[in-house]
Amino acid sequence: MEKLSKTSKGKISPKCNRKMKQQFIGLFHCKCGMSWIKTTGFFERTPEMVFGLKRMKVGNKIKQVPVIKHY
Ligand SMILES: [Zn+2]
Repeated sequence: MEKLSKTSKGKISPKCNRKMKQQFIGLFHCKCGMSWIKTTGFFERTPEMVFGLKRMKVGNKIKQVPVIKHY
């Protein structure tokens, strides 16, 4: 059974219309090679891309945000 919610919990790949898998908060991947990151939106993954989390200070809180690193 499939639940449809209006929250941004699930992302749909614009290329193949499949549900994307979440790696971190703010970072989703699809099998077809598309990814979504909170800061930039959809993009196509390349083998040089590595994903990680960066700690950022927002006000007096430490937030973890996904970042793309390149080899
Ligand atoms: Zn896809």
